[in-house]
Amino acid sequence: MKYYSTRNEKETYTAAQAMAMGLAPDGGLFVPERIPTVTAAELNALCSMDYRSRAVDIMGRYLEEFSAEELEYFAQHAYAENFDHPDVAPLRFTDDRTAFLELWHGPTCAFKDMALQIMPRLLSRALRKTGEMKTALILVATSGDTGKAALEGFCDVPGVSIGVTYPHGGVSDIQFKQMATQAGSNVHVWGVRGNFDDCQTGVKNVFSDDEFAAKLLDEYSIALSSANSINWGRLLPQVVYYISAYAQLVLDGKVVAGDPIDVCVPTGNFGNILAAYYAKTLFGAPIRKFVCASNVNDVLTRFIATGTYDPGPTFTVTNSPSMDIRKSSNVERLLWAVNDGDGAAVKKLMDDFAATGRYSLSPAATAKLQADFVGAFATPEETEAEMRLLHDHCGYIVDPHTAVATAVARKLGYPKDGLPCVVAATATPYKFPETCLRAFGTDILTDPPASFVAMEKAPITQKQVVDVDGIDAAVRALF
Ligand SMILES: *Cc1c(COP(=O)(O)O)cnc(C)c1O
Repeated sequence: MKYYSTRNEKETYTAAQAMAMGLAPDGGLFVPERIPTVTAAELNALCSMDYRSRAVDIMGRYLEEFSAEELEYFAQHAYAENFDHPDVAPLRFTDDRTAFLELWHGPTCAFKDMALQIMPRLLSRALRKTGEMKTALILVATSGDTGKAALEGFCDVPGVSIGVTYPHGGVSDIQFKQMATQAGSNVHVWGVRGNFDDCQTGVKNVFSDDEFAAKLLDEYSIALSSANSINWGRLLPQVVYYISAYAQLVLDGKVVAGDPIDVCVPTGNFGNILAAYYAKTLFGAPIRKFVCASNVNDVLTRFIATGTYDPGPTFTVTNSPSMDIRKSSNVERLLWAVNDGDGAAVKKLMDDFAATGRYSLSPAATAKLQADFVGAFATPEETEAEMRLLHDHCGYIVDPHTAVATAVARKLGYPKDGLPCVVAATATPYKFPETCLRAFGTDILTDPPASFVAMEKAPITQKQVVDVDGIDAAVRALF
């Protein structure tokens, strides 16, 4: 199984190397070569498995150096009592064709747990497999939910320490408390006076500082790595739940293995929807359209409509903060796919982006993009109206990010043509009580997760706030 950088298809890496390194040496992202996809018979076989076994089967195909025993052990521990639902990622139907894939039953109540409960185990084993590196410093930029999920996944993992940057004042109160009350000797949290893009750029700058990386490795035997969704170890576990959802639809008699479905994903850094795209393009899951739902930071929606990626001048803080992102890192992997694996073409686009702040796909690549993706955005008001509508008509309370997804699906007429539409439900509404209060007029959230109740009494241990250009110094100060 070979992995390439999106900017150079001539050099190859193993899965363990891809995970240990996070980012390729040329600044590109790791992408796997294509291997034979799952057949209808294999999809049928997945139906009788539980989530853990599905994960082992699916991930094993792209993790050659990991034994089935290793993966089984990881999956048994990653998807266990830490999830409050026996199906791990259950489907909930609000009508015959609309199925919400609830990805928030993990310990931090957002979909990031689906990957970050297993990824630290994969990563620390990958570090051992690649040999030369002894320990790792994981750096993460978060728009709200990744931070806590990564802290939870990595705290107390031996030989790994973790630093998280988040936009100071740009996350919800609960998201802030989740991170600021994090205990553990190997964790560091920094609020940044800037937005998520600033956090991500700051972290990327640390990664591209070769002299600092060499010093860490020589003097401390520490390798820098990332737990953001640019890391292959984050994406692969996310592919699992789309294929698992498909198996569930087969099991529920909604489709016959091989029949097409649509998926709708609320999108920020383009990780979750890319995982859905990989479920189709790498694994063969019969997904017809990927509905990309944005909030008013609608860079991706415009990209899909025009083939031009242009973040524009304004960054808007919305009621779906985990999607307040205008530089979606994982798009580079999509660029690679729609340019048929031509690393030079991707590098040219990224160089254009660095030089001019925008880039445009060729007509052929644009057509390829539009064959699979459609997109639209929802405003904060539309998001809250959608939350009310789902509550009033279906008795279902969704979080604002999930509401962006269904508002967009509704605008574009999904579910469509009688096909089931799977909507990624990415967080519990309890994470966003202020927005719920505004949307519903009264406090209808009555039974908060136990971890949120405990958090109210926990001491704030992580208080540091730094400037954007202070991220580098904050990381260096650890040594
Ligand atoms: C992270 C997040 C998103 C966006 O996911 P991406 O993989 O960044 O596109 C959407 N909703 C919630 C609740 C999130 O935490």
